[in-house]
Amino acid sequence: MPTLAQVLEQRTAAAAPELVEPIDRGRIRCYSCGHECPIPEGAVGVCKVRFVRDGTLHVPWGYVGGVQCDPIEKKPFFHAHPGALAYSFGMLGCDLHCSYCQNWVTSQALRDPRAVSPPLEASPQALVTDAKRLGARVVVSTYNEPLITSEWAVAIFKEARAAGLMTGFVSNGNATRRVLDYIRPHIDLYKVDLKSFDDKHYRQLGGRIEPILFTIRTLHEMGIWLEIVTLLIPGFNNGADELKRLTEFIASVSPFIPWHVTAFHKDYRMSDPENTTPEMLMEAAAIARASGLRYVYAGNTPGRVGDLENTRCHNCSTLLIERYGYFISAYRLTAEGTCPGCGTAIPGRWSRQFDGQIASTPFLPGTRRLRTL
Ligand code: SF4
Repeated sequence: MPTLAQVLEQRTAAAAPELVEPIDRGRIRCYSCGHECPIPEGAVGVCKVRFVRDGTLHVPWGYVGGVQCDPIEKKPFFHAHPGALAYSFGMLGCDLHCSYCQNWVTSQALRDPRAVSPPLEASPQALVTDAKRLGARVVVSTYNEPLITSEWAVAIFKEARAAGLMTGFVSNGNATRRVLDYIRPHIDLYKVDLKSFDDKHYRQLGGRIEPILFTIRTLHEMGIWLEIVTLLIPGFNNGADELKRLTEFIASVSPFIPWHVTAFHKDYRMSDPENTTPEMLMEAAAIARASGLRYVYAGNTPGRVGDLENTRCHNCSTLLIERYGYFISAYRLTAEGTCPGCGTAIPGRWSRQFDGQIASTPFLPGTRRLRTL
């Protein structure tokens, strides 16, 4: 019985030329994420899914770790086609190793023997056909870190764009200039997890803060629609000073970038901190408002955070979108994406009309199951 790593070794393609550079002593530098690993012959990168063999950097290809249909609000994107169905695929592996990861079965599949997630054979055509069949409007690479499988995501996104669908990444933001330039022509939406504003915390998770801040600035400059999420973990990143610096940084890039502060629940190997309370989320939201952010949302605690699930016009406070969890209960933007009260353009990517929701809770695609490898 082959191991998961042995199965995946057979499912690769050569890395995109834009994302590799031969360096000294026969090594190849990978630029698909902020680690920029110098990989010798026969070795793997930190993510464990990209490896050098016979002088070529091999990257994941031809499978998914899983597929799920999510309301776009779950990603979360609150300013991009509310109510749309996001056909969401994950790969395996990650370049960080957060002990509280809520997708650890896929993200840590090659690092943690308890994380078992059999991959499924897939092609861009089959995935996009399935997405269209289900009425999805967006195809999203999520559940593990999409940057480490950028070539495969771009192949799927080309097919999705050709079929009239939008595309997105749900990412930790540990990118490089090269990978952002590489995905830029093919991507519409990007969510960055800004996990902390302390480099020491990032190093505990296996990264550094600077590449993440670079990614946020660059995505905004590039005009890719960006929303940012911070999972609020008591005792880890909920200090008032850290939250002030974090939200002031986002506001310095643009006060109109939506910031979602979401509730931690005990998971994976991080079981010490208490769960985040709605009051903690509301305190963090107040700090964000004071920092100048105009669109602040609290997540993972439906109905318990006052107005912090709704969208209000940043100019006149007219209630534009009402939500309960992922469910859209009212939608009042104009066809032009403006406030009906004062005519202000609301930042985001809006449809001309609200088409209702196919689902306000996630579901599995069902009938046409992909073959397990
Ligand atoms: S994706 Fe990141 S972790 Fe993986 S090999 Fe490339 S630089 Fe290293």
